[in-house]
Amino acid sequence: MDTSLSGRTALITGGSLGLGLATATACYQAGARVAIVARRGEVVDDACAAIAALEAPATAAVAGFVCDVSDPQQITETYAAVEDEFGGVDVLVNNAGQSAAKPFLELSDDDWYADIDLKLMAAVRLSRLAWPHMQAQKWGRIINLLNVYAKTPDARTAPTSVTRAAGMALTKVLAAEGAADNILVNAMLIGFIRSDQIRRRYEAAETEQSFADFVAAAGARLPMGRMGEPEEAANLALFLASPAASYITGCAINMDGGLSKVV
Ligand code: NDP
Repeated sequence: MDTSLSGRTALITGGSLGLGLATATACYQAGARVAIVARRGEVVDDACAAIAALEAPATAAVAGFVCDVSDPQQITETYAAVEDEFGGVDVLVNNAGQSAAKPFLELSDDDWYADIDLKLMAAVRLSRLAWPHMQAQKWGRIINLLNVYAKTPDARTAPTSVTRAAGMALTKVLAAEGAADNILVNAMLIGFIRSDQIRRRYEAAETEQSFADFVAAAGARLPMGRMGEPEEAANLALFLASPAASYITGCAINMDGGLSKVV
């Protein structure tokens, strides 16, 4: 199975931690030129240094770009900087995000707009920038990281469930428009995967438990009896980005160890 990304440029938003870091690592080890995009420069630098220390094909490269993907201006400038460094983006992984869920009446307009800018409009804006290059070469991959609530919204899961459902619709629209140009667009619906986000949840809980015990206890409530690991999500992202996934587009794949009640 061909999972090489040699000669490809992969831009991964939120690539400095968690699922994004694992995906950036997998793409680098598959030979890609990897652009890591996130807000905190020192965390981006650490991620780039850790990745660059790994064994990889000679085609592999990694560089960091500081950018808040909620901000349209920063997105435009960052995309141009990535193009200067590595050329047009062949693989776009829209991954940056964080949990946002409250009872409906506690949500202000600002809460809604912030979530939409971060999770939906960042993917819209970056896809729009990468699209002409992908179209011209008749090869492109866009992978949108969403969550299981995109298919199964529930009480107190807004705004994220609504924004993620929109991300799933965006995935289908782009897949339909990109198919003739071999631009393949898919989504990954995440359940619970151990990451910095989960660590922040642990710290907020102010429990006596160790982080490992906290993760194990939360995982025990899931169908597979454990949380996923970032590398398990990265395996799917790499597959979708690779030549091996050449006939898969418009799919929203549950990456949740069986959590979602729907296919
Ligand atoms: P983490 O919190 O571990 O990492 C988030 C990454 O995104 C960091 O690199 C962070 O860096 C970056 N980031 C956050 N906000 C922005 C922003 N405005 N602009 C640019 N970069 C940003 O998250 P996970 O790895 O857990 O999650 C990855 C994706 O999967 C997210 O979209 C998340 O919502 C989704 N998901 C994850 C679940 C899980 O169980 N882990 C569950 C459901 C969905 P910095 O803060 O420096 O910007």
